[in-house]
Amino acid sequence: MVRIAFIGLGNMGGGMAANLARHGHDVHAFDVAPDALERAVASGCVAAHNASAACEAAEVVLTMLPAGQHVEAVYSDGIFTAAPPQATLIDCSTIDVATAKRVAAAGAAAGFAMLDAPVSGGIAAAAAGTLTFMVGGTDAGFAVAQPYLSQMGKTVVHAGASGSGQAAKICNNMMLGAEMIATCEAFLLAAKLGLDPQKFFEIASVSSGQSWSLTTYAPWPGVGPETPADRGYQGGFATALMLKDLRLAAEAAASVGAATPMGARAMQLYEAFAADGHGARDFSAILTMLQAQSDNER
Ligand code: NAD
Repeated sequence: MVRIAFIGLGNMGGGMAANLARHGHDVHAFDVAPDALERAVASGCVAAHNASAACEAAEVVLTMLPAGQHVEAVYSDGIFTAAPPQATLIDCSTIDVATAKRVAAAGAAAGFAMLDAPVSGGIAAAAAGTLTFMVGGTDAGFAVAQPYLSQMGKTVVHAGASGSGQAAKICNNMMLGAEMIATCEAFLLAAKLGLDPQKFFEIASVSSGQSWSLTTYAPWPGVGPETPADRGYQGGFATALMLKDLRLAAEAAASVGAATPMGARAMQLYEAFAADGHGARDFSAILTMLQAQSDNER
């Protein structure tokens, strides 16, 4: 049993902290939202009254916060001064590569091994302990972190040096955003050309247009395995979170001069969909925006 600090107990962090407690660790948890903290206590964690108190005597410190500014503030205003010198620090939030590198460098300057370890998989995977972790940091830091990450996920990959986990995450999600829109367009066009969507699904699933967005997460209701499309696009991966990741990808692309026109277009389309009040719906619901546009153009 190891003493672990867990800061940020929202949709994702709540399930992750519960899994560490379930594995017998002494998890000292903190969240600025009292109800999130209460849920963590109900799932076996010990409540701390702030981030610094959670870090006391911790061997491992984990954070799962909304965005870069929260990560920077929580590490520089608390964790770096309160965590014991040998503690391994792991940030699992999805944030921009530049902030991830800057915070890790500040951690290294203070003598800590610090890793960026964003996740793929949503709230259900966080609760079930089946997340995928993509990790950036040193070999030594990864070796310490790996067993704990494995208790919250089914796949843990060392992506490379500091910032590599965030880089892998935003590249993957940029591809996913563009692919989902392309899949929606193809279903829409197929239907308008008179194809049965189920037949199109069967053909494209085993043809060169195949993708995860098609075979695992079909945006068209009633085809393939059950997806948010079959539940009125409730649950799943929120449009607002996809938009956040596409913005991070655009920012990263601009910072290194990479041409990502499809990623940029996907960001614009998700911006329009979110601005129309659909930020909370699953990101595959963008099909409905394209359907409305198609109908308007007839
Ligand atoms: P969330 O908003 O549900 O949880 C974030 C938690 O952090 C909240 O409970 C909030 O109160 C807490 N918090 C904010 N500032 C704090 C501070 N200074 N100190 C302590 N606690 C603080 O968000 P989430 O859905 O759990 O996502 C967390 C991260 O995981 C985000 O970066 C998100 O992009 C990423 N992510 C989310 C999903 C998903 O499906 N929800 C999937 C993959 C990755």
